[in-house]
Amino acid sequence: MNLLPPLRIPRMLLDPWDGRLPQGDADGLVSVVLEVESGRIQALHPAPEAVAGRDAQGAAPPEPPLALTPLVEPHAHLDKAFSAARFANRAGTIAAAMAANQAETSCRTAEDLEQRAERALQRAWRQGLRAIRSHVDCGGERGDLSLEVLDGLRRRWADRLELQLVGLVPIQHWGTPQGRSQARWLAERGGRLGGVIGGPLGNGSGDGDAVLETLRLADQLGCGVDLHLDEGLSHRGRGVRLVCEALERQRLQVPVVCSHACSMALLPPRACQRLVDRMARLALGVVALPSTNLWLLDRRAEATPTRRTQAPIRQLQNSGVVVAVGGDNVQDAWFPGGDFDPLEVLRFAVVASHLHPWSRQGLSPFSTAAAQLLQLEWDGILRPGSPADLVVLDAHNWSDLLARSPQRRVLRGGVWLPKPEREEPAALLRGWGDWSA
Ligand SMILES: [Zn+2]
Repeated sequence: MNLLPPLRIPRMLLDPWDGRLPQGDADGLVSVVLEVESGRIQALHPAPEAVAGRDAQGAAPPEPPLALTPLVEPHAHLDKAFSAARFANRAGTIAAAMAANQAETSCRTAEDLEQRAERALQRAWRQGLRAIRSHVDCGGERGDLSLEVLDGLRRRWADRLELQLVGLVPIQHWGTPQGRSQARWLAERGGRLGGVIGGPLGNGSGDGDAVLETLRLADQLGCGVDLHLDEGLSHRGRGVRLVCEALERQRLQVPVVCSHACSMALLPPRACQRLVDRMARLALGVVALPSTNLWLLDRRAEATPTRRTQAPIRQLQNSGVVVAVGGDNVQDAWFPGGDFDPLEVLRFAVVASHLHPWSRQGLSPFSTAAAQLLQLEWDGILRPGSPADLVVLDAHNWSDLLARSPQRRVLRGGVWLPKPEREEPAALLRGWGDWSA
């Protein structure tokens, strides 16, 4: 048995049925002491009150550090990650991203892909992610190769991090012989069917039928669906509407996630609310991806953007739709930044999407809601018997977290992971402060 020093943990990440734990303070936090045994939480105790506020030397007791349970990345592209240096998109447009993406996939090798994806998983794990859903370009000649390499990594990483694969193709692909056999292959490995509707691929008259066919295929195979849709500024909410129509035509028990869903935010408020209500009735989930959307949308050569949308997160949450927020592209043609750091995704969304981590709706998209959409075994809430998994931050409160990207220590199964080292550029400055002319 091992008692951890006191920690300040969001109340929503602690057993809701434990009446001995106090309600959260104004920041939604509770000071607790966790008892750990054999890699699992044995018990949770309210932290003892600081005695009279001062110790024998007259110093105020240190405030416990802020801690979260490891976070979940609901939407990544491991197959493209870290390819920006060789396949850059300096114009930052969607058309240039498509062209660079195609150039990269056409000469993708197993060795290069494995190296980049392994680096991504190492970064993710050490920085406090416990699960990643990755879309994988799997159409064309090298589609099978990409799936096989990533499936190998999925199996090798299974005891550290859950990797879920989603086949990413133009949605009509699932109707082809290659598509059907890949769909079976994915379903046998816990994967999902993905696809693109609208956005960079344009809108086709057969999209509605293809959506229905894809949902039927997923239903037969017993797997979920996660679509890229409405990632643009035209055809407001068309992709989401096609999914709703398909599910209303044929009742299917397929868990469906709508990723991006940004153009629906351009609908007039009442029309948007009607669509949101339909999504709630059909139990659709949404993954919002503000960083890539803000980077790509309304890009003009000579003007600063004014119309950059993202999924209407709060309206969806208020109507009962489960919403997660993801980091999407990392150092590829679609977005040149990112580092599989879940705290950076959260810090960005606080500003970009007005998500307040001190509220349930602000924190759940990175933790419990993301776990729900990925159908993970653990919801991310600490209770007796749950994994002894924590991300302990060098921060006392949310303001510290917003002020700077905090150092962290990650506990998995009761064991501390090696410190996440900063990658190379920071080391370039070693020795420079000593130099003088
Ligand atoms: Zn994506």
